[in-house]
Amino acid sequence: MHIVVLGTGIIGVCTAAWLQRDGHTVTFVSPLAPGEGCSFGNAGSLSPSACLPVGMPGMWKKVPRWLIDPEGPLRIHPTYLPHVLPWLLRFVRASRPREVERIAAAMRSLLAPIFDCYTPLVEHAGAQHLVRRRGCLYAFTTKAAADRYGWGMDLRRRLGVALRDIDEDEFAALEPDLRGRFRFAVLAPDNGSTADPGGLVKALHAQCERDGARSVRAGATGFERTGGTVKAVRLDNGDSIACDGVVLAAGAWSARLSAQLGSRVPLESQRGYHVTVQSSNVALHHTIQAHEYSLMMNPMAIGLRIAGTVEFAGLKRPPDYRRADVLLEKGRELFPHLDTSRTTQWMGHRPCLPDSLPVIGRAGAAENAWLAFGHQHVGMCAGASTGREVANLVAGRPTQVDLRPFGAERFH
Ligand SMILES: Cc1cc2nc3c(=O)[nH]c(=O)nc-3n(C[C@H](O)[C@H](O)[C@H](O)COP(=O)(O)OP(=O)(O)OC[C@H]3O[C@@H](n4cnc5c(N)ncnc54)[C@H](O)[C@@H]3O)c2cc1C
Repeated sequence: MHIVVLGTGIIGVCTAAWLQRDGHTVTFVSPLAPGEGCSFGNAGSLSPSACLPVGMPGMWKKVPRWLIDPEGPLRIHPTYLPHVLPWLLRFVRASRPREVERIAAAMRSLLAPIFDCYTPLVEHAGAQHLVRRRGCLYAFTTKAAADRYGWGMDLRRRLGVALRDIDEDEFAALEPDLRGRFRFAVLAPDNGSTADPGGLVKALHAQCERDGARSVRAGATGFERTGGTVKAVRLDNGDSIACDGVVLAAGAWSARLSAQLGSRVPLESQRGYHVTVQSSNVALHHTIQAHEYSLMMNPMAIGLRIAGTVEFAGLKRPPDYRRADVLLEKGRELFPHLDTSRTTQWMGHRPCLPDSLPVIGRAGAAENAWLAFGHQHVGMCAGASTGREVANLVAGRPTQVDLRPFGAERFH
C-alpha cells in the first residue's frame, strides 16, 4: 500500500520504518524538518521502566504550592487556565491508585519491548552509536525522600521492572561528580538513552528515504474520503496526495486531524524545556532522574542536558525561557563548579492525554486511517514499539501488545 505518514517525529519515523519492512511505500508529510518537533530536544531517556503515568496518587495536593513557586516544576499560564481546566480534572481522576495501576500495566506492555523494537531499525540505519544501554539512576537526597516515591517504585517492580537500591558510597562510585548530592538511588539497569534524540530521528528518517520514502514539507489540513475510506490527504500548500492509507503521528498537533477522522480526543501540550550545557566540565555516566528537583539529566553528544518542567500555555504562545533558566540554576546547585559559559535552551510540546496513555489504534470514521500520538513524556521510549504495533494493525496481524487501553474510543 501507499501510506502517508503525517509527522516526522520519533513516532512517525519509527512507524514508517516498520511499515517499509512490510513492503509498504511511504510518503511523509510534515511542516517541520525530521526530528525538529518535540523529538528534538528531549532528555533522550529510553526507559522500559518509565511506565508510571504523569499523574500519581496525591500529586494534586502539591499543585497549589508548585503554582506559587516561580521555580516550581509546574506553571499554568493564567489566561490558559479556563481552557485547560476540564483536562486537568480528567487528569486528577486518572491519578487514583486503581487507575494508576491499570495505566502503568498498559504502559509497561508498550515499553518492555523497546530495545527489541529499536534494534532492527537502528542497526539498519547504522545509528548504533546514538543508542546506549547504561542504565538510569533515580537519585534522592535521602532514603526518606526515596520512601515518598516508594509506592511507584514498588508498582514498577510488580510490573517486572528490574530495580536495585544503591547506597551513598556506591552512588558516589557510579557518579563521582554528584558525590554527596544524593545519598540514595534506585538503579534501573535495563534502561538506555540516546546521545542525540533529534539526530536519532534524522538518522532513521534518512534510512527511510534511502529505502524509498518521499518527504513533503507541508502541513496536512484534512482528508478526501469516499465513505469510510481516506482517498487522499489535503495539504496547506493546496496540493493533495492520493493514498491507500494514512497514519496520523503529528504529536501535539494531532487533535484537529484526529477529530476529522472521527476520533475526538482531549490532547494538550505539556510544554517542557531543556538547557544543554555545551561547555560542561562534569561527567555523568547514567541518565539521572532527580524527582526532588523535578528534572532529568543526560550526558548528550553536545553537552550535559538538563530537562524538565511542565507548562500549560497552548501551542501558540512563545516559549518562556525563564523556565529553562530555573533548570540551569538547579544544575549549578547540583554541580557547583559547572562551567555554564556556553548553553542552549529549548522548549518542546509534549503531546498529552489526561490518562497519560497514547492513542494507538484505528481512527473512528475511516477504515484505512490509524492514530499514533499522545506519547506524553515517553515518546522516545515508545517510538519503535508504537511503530511496530501500527504496522501490525495496518497488516491486519494480531498485535504483540494489547492495544485496547490505547484506543481513542476511551474518550467517547
Ligand atoms: C523537556 C522534555 C523532555 C523529554 N524527555 C523525554 C525522554 O527523556 N524520553 C522520552 O521518551 N520522551 C521524552 N520527552 C517526550 C518526547 O519528546 C515526546 O513524547 C516525543 O518527542 C513525541 O514525539 P512525536 O513524534 O509524537 O511528536 P513530535 O516530535 O513533536 O513530532 C510531531 C510531528 O508532527 C508534524 N506535524 C505538525 N502538524 C502537522 C500537520 N498538520 N500535518 C503533518 N504533520 C504535522 C511536525 O512537523 C512534527 O514532524 C520529553 C519531552 C520534553 C519536552
